[in-house]
This record gives sequence, C-alpha cells and structure tokens, in this order.
Amino acid sequence: MRNVKAIMGASDTYPFLLSTASPTRNQRRFALCVLAVLVGALLVTAPFARIQFSDTEILVPAYASAVLIIELITSVMLLALFSVQNSRAVLVLAIGYLFSGLMVVPWALTFPGAFTAFGLDAGMQATASIAALRRLGFPVFVLAYALLDDRDAQAPRFDNSVRRTILGSVAGVIAAACGLTWLITTSEEILPRFMTNMIVPTDLWRLVPVTAVVLYIAGLVALWRRRRSVLDLWLMVVLFTLLVELMLLSFAGAGIRLNLGWWAGRFYGLVCTSIVLLVLLSETVTLYARLARSILAERRARETRLTTMEAMSASIAHEINQPLASMVTNADAALRWLGRESPDIAEAKAALTYIVSDGHRAGSLIKSIGAMFKKGAQERVATDLNLLIDEVLRRGQGEARFGRVTIETDLDEGLPLVTCNPVQLQQVVSNLVSNAIDAMETVTKRPRILCVTSRLRETGDILVSVADTGTGIDPTHKDRIFDPFFTTKPDGMGMGLMCCLSIVESNGGRLWVSHNVPHGAIFHFTLPSHDDPIA
Ligand code: ADP
Repeated sequence: MRNVKAIMGASDTYPFLLSTASPTRNQRRFALCVLAVLVGALLVTAPFARIQFSDTEILVPAYASAVLIIELITSVMLLALFSVQNSRAVLVLAIGYLFSGLMVVPWALTFPGAFTAFGLDAGMQATASIAALRRLGFPVFVLAYALLDDRDAQAPRFDNSVRRTILGSVAGVIAAACGLTWLITTSEEILPRFMTNMIVPTDLWRLVPVTAVVLYIAGLVALWRRRRSVLDLWLMVVLFTLLVELMLLSFAGAGIRLNLGWWAGRFYGLVCTSIVLLVLLSETVTLYARLARSILAERRARETRLTTMEAMSASIAHEINQPLASMVTNADAALRWLGRESPDIAEAKAALTYIVSDGHRAGSLIKSIGAMFKKGAQERVATDLNLLIDEVLRRGQGEARFGRVTIETDLDEGLPLVTCNPVQLQQVVSNLVSNAIDAMETVTKRPRILCVTSRLRETGDILVSVADTGTGIDPTHKDRIFDPFFTTKPDGMGMGLMCCLSIVESNGGRLWVSHNVPHGAIFHFTLPSHDDPIA
C-alpha cells in the first residue's frame, strides 16, 4: 500500500502556509499596486540618475547593516517554514537569502572609502566581484526554488533529520561565503576587471547586469508558471523590484557608483530585501491569530460537549429514579397484600401490573432521554393530551394520597390532538406534578390542591397548566429554576425542570412559571396542535 501521507501534497497538509496557500484576489491586487508604485518611482528618479552624490563612510555601512539584518531574519523565518513543511524549495530560498545577507558584509567592508579608515581596502576589483556574486547568486537561488517541484515530497517529519539539514545548510553557506570572501580579497590580480577606477565600471561589467536581467526574467517566468502560493507571488514582486533596481543602477545610472541612480538603486534593493520578510511577518501574525481563534473554538466545543454529557448522565439518573421508586413502593405493597393472613391476590396483581408498566416506562425513558439530546431524532405522533394527563395523574395518585393532596382537573373536552413525543410529554407532566406535590409538603394551614387544566388557545396551540397551593417560587430563584443542577431540595438533582424545558421546546412549545393567587405556583406549557402547519 502506498503511503497516503507521502502522496498528499503540502498544500493538502498545510493549506494555510505562506508557501502553500494560493494568493487571494486581494493579495494579487496588492502585489500589482506595489509594482505600480515601484514603476512610478522609477520614472520619477530615472531623469536625475546621473547626479553625483557621496557620503560613503556613513551610508554604505548603514545600508549594508540594514540588508544584512533583514536578509538574515528572512532566512531564519524561511528555515522555520522549512522545518514545518519540509520543502526543499523553501530550504533553497532560505539559503539564497542567507548567502546574499552574508555576502553584503565583505561588500561593505571592501567598498572604496567606506572602511578605509580601518585599513580595509582589498583592491579595486574586489567589491565589484562580490557585488556580481550577490547580483547573480540570488536569482539563481530563486530560479532553483521555482523549478524544484516538491509538491509530493513533504510528508512532514519533526525529527532530528530536519535540524541536521538546517544546521548543515547554514554551516555550508557560511563556509562558502567565508571561502569566497577570502579568495576574492586575496587574489585581486586574477579577478575580472570590472572597474576602471573607484567609481566608473569597465565595459566588462555590462555583462553582469545583462546576465542578471536574463536570470531575473527566467526566474519570473518560472515563478509565473509555478504560481501556486503567496510566497511565489511575492517572489515575483521581488524579482521585478530587482529588475527596477538594476535599471537605475546599471542602465539609467550607467553603473557609475554614488550617483543618484546608484543610491536610488540601493533604496530599491532595501525595499526588495524587505518584501519577503514583511510578507512572512504579516502571514505569521495572521496565522497566530487564526491559531488562537481555533484553539478557543475547540476548547469551547469541548466544554459544551462535557456539559451536555454531564447533563445527560444526571438527567438519566434523575428520570430513572422515579419509576424505580414507584416499582419499589408497588413491590412492597404487593408483598404486604400477599403476606396477609388471607392474601389479597387482586390487589397484589394490580401492584405487580404497575411494576411491569413502570419497567416499560423506564425503558422508554432511557430511549427518550437519548432522543432528547439527539436533536431532530424524536419520534413525534398525534397525541391526545387529555388522555396523557389522565394517565400521569392516575400514576401519581399514590404519591398524592401520601402527601394528602387533592387532585383537580379542568380538561378542555374539545382539545385537538397535538404532535409530540408522548413518552417525553408524560415525563414533563409527571415532573411538574411531582414538583407541585413536593412544594405542598410543608403546607399545613390551607388545603393542598393540585389543579391541572388544558385549554385550546385562540392562537391555535394548546395550553396546559399545573397549579399548586404550595410554597410558591422564591423570587430570587425564579431565573434559576430551569438551570441544570439547581435545586432547593435536600435529595433533589435540579434536572427535572431543565429536562421539561428542553422537551417542550424541542416539541415546538414554551414552558414558563407564574405565581398562583393567593399561594403557590403555576407551571404552564404550550404545544402546537396537530393541524398547525408549523408542527
Ligand atoms: P428538583 O426537583 O430535583 O429540585 P427541578 O429542576 O424539578 O429539580 O426543580 C428545581 C427547583 O425549582 C426545585 O428544587 C424547587 O426549588 C423549584 N420548584 C420546582 N417546582 C416548584 C413548585 N411547583 N413550587 C415551588 N418551587 C418549585
């Protein structure tokens, strides 16, 4: 079997990286604007290119330091990109920047007049030879970058081999830069005769800009054909800027040092050096922001998942507790009926029948709780709500009798069917009834009355109300009673009302609470009727 990772391109693995992401239309437009500004500046500067200028001792070292720093940082950032993406093309480009940055040091040190005060003057031809090496070397690296087709070669490896490759390459470039500097500065007599004096070049020098132009154009064509990533786009801008720099330096300024054309060319050189760095920096910042956002989103999703899981397990425990308690009560009763001197088989049978039906109810509950958390997966059928209420109250009779609660009903005879999940709805009514009975437990000075009503409203939906004459809802708790785990009962779980709310809402209705006059609370819920087109 082929290694799936190996045949996946880097753009599939890292669609957001500078060297893999395709440039957007805005990025292309921005690159074009930059080019337009550069061309405009060329047109403005060219006529004044031959005006002589000089302040070599300050400006040349300052320019060289800026280029050195910018190119070294660019190289480091490209190496970091390589360590993630493992792309040979990016490595070659990083080496190109490093080489160019390192070679600016001997160029500045040997520049006539720049460091003469320190006794550094290697001869007339050395600076020009180093300049030629930089000028022709950089586009060769860019060309190699553009021609290296590494779409299939980036199964990312975060091991020592990447570090070894980086260290080896950096050491190789430093050694090459040092070796070449030594060679150039010690063999003045064998260097090509590029300069007639410190300022004016020979005809042989013309070969350098002409070859550079050919290399730049070749690089531009190769990049244009490759044109896959943001990096490709900006490297095209870089080569174009270098082309403009060359126009000013070697053609408009006739290659003569220290005239305006030469200094303008140097300025273009700085802009060109900074382009990739600026793009790398801006992409890095964007990437960090995106990373931070996605980490936050992922954390939020995990927390929500956890809360849902906690709510689900607590709700299962809570809902199953009720049928279990009822089964135990009925089993006790059955034992008592059978344990009598003359066993009452009929009563025992009735209690056992309740146990069986509670067992079924528990099973259905587990199913419906699962369905409650699985949105849209609830089985809804046309249901007679009055029948459903009757059934729940019949079951709750034992509990009501035990709490000395009188049950009253006022059910609308002409109630239409509602579309809902009947098992879930039984659960809602049963929860509200149990809560009402609980709320009246401490009431001694007034009748304990539970009243369930159903009505067809003018809006076409059905309203069910469960009223009690209990303690009522403490105003400070009103906003919290529907929250998961909120309870005022010593053995409560605080899940009942949350489940009721979730069930009613998922069945297309609303649930709320109001005060009963003069005492107690009324819980109301609405459900759409079966004929309602929204149901
Ligand atoms: P639990 O019954 O486990 O406490 P619920 O979510 O069903 O959980 O109820 C949350 C809280 O709401 C209860 O603890 C109680 O304080 C309050 N409550 C619910 N129903 C009533 C009611 N009919 N009268 C007064 N308070 C109520």
